[in-house]
Amino acid sequence: MGSREGHGAGAASPGTGKPRPPAMVSRLARELARRGIETVYCATGEEARDFLCRAIPPGTEVMTGSSATLAAIGFEEVLLSGGYDYYRPRIKALDDDRERIRLRRRSTTAEYFVGGVNAISLTGEILNVDGSGGRVAGYAYGGGKVYLVAGVNKIAPTLSAAFRRLRNQAAAAECRALGRRTPCAADGVCRNYECYPPERQCGKVLIIEKESIPGRITLVLIGENLGY
Ligand code: SF4
Repeated sequence: MGSREGHGAGAASPGTGKPRPPAMVSRLARELARRGIETVYCATGEEARDFLCRAIPPGTEVMTGSSATLAAIGFEEVLLSGGYDYYRPRIKALDDDRERIRLRRRSTTAEYFVGGVNAISLTGEILNVDGSGGRVAGYAYGGGKVYLVAGVNKIAPTLSAAFRRLRNQAAAAECRALGRRTPCAADGVCRNYECYPPERQCGKVLIIEKESIPGRITLVLIGENLGY
C-alpha cells in the first residue's frame, strides 16, 4: 500500500513500517498541497497499481491518458481485465470515425481519469503535452476524479527545466515511438519553429498550477524511474 502523503506531507506515517519518502518527494508534496493537489507516495510500481485498484471502485467509468507508466505498473492490464467500464476498448471497437470521435469526446468527462505526467517542477507545476488534447482535457476539467501517475524521474527542479524535459525528453521519446520525423526525434532537441504537422506531435500543452475542487486531483508518485 502506498503511504499517503497528502496535505502537509513530509514524513511517512508513524508505525506503518513503510520507508520514509525521499526529502525531495516530501518537499514536492508540500508545494502541491498548497496548490490544492494531493500526493500519494508509493515506493514501487506494484504498490501504485494496488493503490489505484483500491481507490477506483470496480464497475465505474474510467478513461486513461495514454501512458507508458500505467502500462509498466500493470494498471492498463487491470483495466482491460473487464472489471471496469473502461472507455478505451469501447472506442477501439467502433468502426465509424464520427462515432469514435464522439465517444472520445465523452470519455474526457469520465468519472475517473487516470494517466501519466510528462514533467513536474519541484515548485509544484504539473506539465503535459498531447497531440490531440483528449488527455489534457480530462486532466484540466473533464475527469471527475483524476489520478496522475508518475515516477520520480519526472521531477525537474524548476518550471523551465520541467518544460525542457517535456519537449526534449518526453515529446522526443514519444515522436520516436510513433515514428514521427521531427527535429526532437532526430537529436533530442526541440526546434519548435521548425516543426509542423503532420509530423509534429506537440499539439496542446497543459500546465496544472492549482486545483480548485477539493480532492479532485491526486498525484501518485512512485519511487522508481518509469515512462519517459
Ligand atoms: S514541438 Fe516538435 S520538435 Fe519540439 S518537442 Fe514537439 S514534436 Fe518535438
